[in-house]
Amino acid sequence: MPESPIIVLPKQIKVGGLTYQVVTWHPSGAQAARRFGECSHLELTIRVDDVHGAERTREVFLHELLHAIGHVFGPDHLPQDLDQSKEVYVGATAMGLTAVLADNPELVRFIRDAWPPVPA
Ligand SMILES: [Zn+2]
Repeated sequence: MPESPIIVLPKQIKVGGLTYQVVTWHPSGAQAARRFGECSHLELTIRVDDVHGAERTREVFLHELLHAIGHVFGPDHLPQDLDQSKEVYVGATAMGLTAVLADNPELVRFIRDAWPPVPA
């Protein structure tokens, strides 16, 4: 039996000039798609199946956020045969970011205060 959701996802997230809505994804839809999450650039929507506990939910959210970042800032426009490599890269980066941000909460403040960059 999956864990109950114990974290609240942000309702939306700004990625460059685009704002993605963040919604929970009903487990039946996620299971049918055989994924924990999804990032639709057409709908500007990130869907997260949030019934697998806080750690998985954070990791999946970051995973989908990385797809959004890749879409907005590039390089998300890779040839189809590189899609699998892109998934491996995004998956590893999401796991790493989840761990690093969880272990270094001050990093969020550092990034927030450093953004947007001061013009030279
Ligand atoms: Zn992915």
